[in-house]
Amino acid sequence: MLDYAAQVRELEKMAKLSPPRAVTRALPALGEKRGQCLVCGRPGRACAACEGVSYCGVEHQQRDARWHDVVCDALRELRDDRAAPDPTLLPDLRVMRPWDEYEGTPQRRRRLSDLATRPFTLRSAIAALGVAAKTVHVMAASQREADVPKELWGDLNVTLVGPELPAHAGTRALYSRALWSDGAPDLVIGFDAGLLMYPSWKQTILELRGSGVPFVITTYRDWEAEAEAKLLTAVRARCLLPPRPNPWASRVAKRSTTIANDVSYDNAWVSAWA
Ligand SMILES: [Zn+2]
Ligand SMILES: [Zn+2]
Repeated sequence: MLDYAAQVRELEKMAKLSPPRAVTRALPALGEKRGQCLVCGRPGRACAACEGVSYCGVEHQQRDARWHDVVCDALRELRDDRAAPDPTLLPDLRVMRPWDEYEGTPQRRRRLSDLATRPFTLRSAIAALGVAAKTVHVMAASQREADVPKELWGDLNVTLVGPELPAHAGTRALYSRALWSDGAPDLVIGFDAGLLMYPSWKQTILELRGSGVPFVITTYRDWEAEAEAKLLTAVRARCLLPPRPNPWASRVAKRSTTIANDVSYDNAWVSAWA
């Protein structure tokens, strides 16, 4: 049984060191089973606003409010957004605009953003770097990239590469310069690549750094972007664009699988290196 009081003391210590948002990521997933109080694990009732977490009563709801309030709106949107892909969205995305400038409800704009976050992030990075990129390799590509409608990549010649990629969608491999035997791409990008999560990145980074081909990295969170920047600086990668919030991030929240009061957004931060 987890000791909630001890966890809270730990988190309060962290809260003194970190901005409040950082605290939400470390809250342990207690009572994850649906209907269990998030604080004590006894049977509870769902938060009326989002139905995403449960509490046994007002006291425990209030005790958790500090963390839950940060994500309650996002969890409510997540509940409301469950719907099949909408074929009417694609024609809108022929013109790349800030998400708020698309027609429709906030929910419709969230779905537009989720469909186009990868191609639009790529195109805006190319513009920011001022490179004439025609050929792009997407490293650590997976089903999410394979699902991007081809027309959204525009004129770019995009090749997907990743160890978990469905075989028909591209090259099933860890990214390496061995893939450049037919010529190097103009740019390499990794969407929410997780450089710190997977040791297999080390070799790829060492091969890309100093290769003359710029590479763009996106991450879910500010602290992750910061930590990756430290890592890349330590191996003497040259920073072309320091980590910054990405206006083309998805607006669809992804719920953490391990932490109750935690959501993240695809491509929330972006940086570029060489
Ligand atoms: Zn309780
Ligand atoms: Zn809620």
